[in-house]
Amino acid sequence: MTKSLKILVLYPEEMNIYGDHGNLLTLQKRAEKRGLTTETVLYEPDMKFDERADIILGGGGQDSGQSKIQDDLAEIAPKLRKLAASGTPMLVICGLYQLFGRYFETATGEKINGIGIFDAYTVAGPKRLIGNIVTKSAEFGELVGYENHSGLTFLGQNQKPLARVKKGAGNDASGKFEGARTGNVFGSYLHGPILPKNPRLADEIIRLAAVKKYPDFKLSQIDDSLAEKARAIAKKRPR
Ligand code: GLN
Repeated sequence: MTKSLKILVLYPEEMNIYGDHGNLLTLQKRAEKRGLTTETVLYEPDMKFDERADIILGGGGQDSGQSKIQDDLAEIAPKLRKLAASGTPMLVICGLYQLFGRYFETATGEKINGIGIFDAYTVAGPKRLIGNIVTKSAEFGELVGYENHSGLTFLGQNQKPLARVKKGAGNDASGKFEGARTGNVFGSYLHGPILPKNPRLADEIIRLAAVKKYPDFKLSQIDDSLAEKARAIAKKRPR
């Protein structure tokens, strides 16, 4: 029997900047190399939300885009929370990372509601935080990417971050933490996109989804020499 994973991408029209679409391509390719077929669902506001998704992806967007999708996100929030609670892996970047927290208050004072999967809130900061970033996570080693946000994200006391910042600004410009992790839901500011340069994270998302659906699934090793080269170059780039 062919094993197959359904990848649902949230709001690709508004929430997909700085190459975040590459995260989808990376999951598709890396899954295929393990003999898994993938089916992709591009979810936009007012569509029927497919609760059989095995992986949920979301990218970054402008403040205006975040504002546009907030009502629909609130509609599907119970379904997303249910999937998160059942262990469905999700990766949300920048704008959607902010909205998987409790809220984002923009520079004009608009409060955009989030869905509270992360105990975190975001407020617009005085300047944009832009540049190459290197972080270190316990589970995936160094995570490298590119950040571009003005929002400052503050984690609640018991909210686990995704990583510690080695070079760059991270969640709140203090250079301490980057991203958040709740169960199998990963949030991060890392564009670049994040997954091609961070194959361990990509593989963990695939493995979590595949094992949930096919308990006997074992993730095989693949040749990552190109990804390793890209990581090494990215790490050396100036901020
Ligand atoms: N608008 C948000 C910010 O600047 C998110 C930006 C993004 O998704 N790149 O903080």
